[in-house]
Amino acid sequence: MPSRNHQRPTTRIGYGFDSHEFRPGIALKLGGITLPHDKGLGGHSDGDVLLHAVTDALLGAIAAPDIGALFPPSDPKWKGADSVIFLREALKRVRDAGYAVANVDASLILAAPKIGPHATAIRTRVAELLGIQGDCVGLKAKTPEGLNLENAAIAHVVVLLERKPSRQAKPKRKKR
Ligand code: MG
Repeated sequence: MPSRNHQRPTTRIGYGFDSHEFRPGIALKLGGITLPHDKGLGGHSDGDVLLHAVTDALLGAIAAPDIGALFPPSDPKWKGADSVIFLREALKRVRDAGYAVANVDASLILAAPKIGPHATAIRTRVAELLGIQGDCVGLKAKTPEGLNLENAAIAHVVVLLERKPSRQAKPKRKKR
């Protein structure tokens, strides 16, 4: 009989999308770090649009309920919450399902601030949160040309998961 492991795909892909509106008077959190800017992202929790999209990509890859189902915006418990909590829960579910993160690729779309000077810090932090190397986190930043979305930040993320080796018994040695 095939082991459970043989019934699971070797790799799985996940995709996450999120958008938040800029609002004055709050800190700008992106990828788990605080960026200097005169506005932050409002909405659910601390508004970290990138971590939300990473979280949904992880959850989607294992066909788990999405971030809104696990952490409802209507629940006051999550108001202002650190989005790292959401990402850690998604990562736990990925690991419990028998997978490890191989790499992540993200696109951020926002008019300001410029992401270039902070890209390495964001990639390093996201990698650290996911337990992978910094060169396994891709990050591109785009301005919303022609989209008329000057007051929003958008994130698209894809993630690749690899099946972890199963903890099978060592092969039996043939008796002589
Ligand atoms: Mg969100």
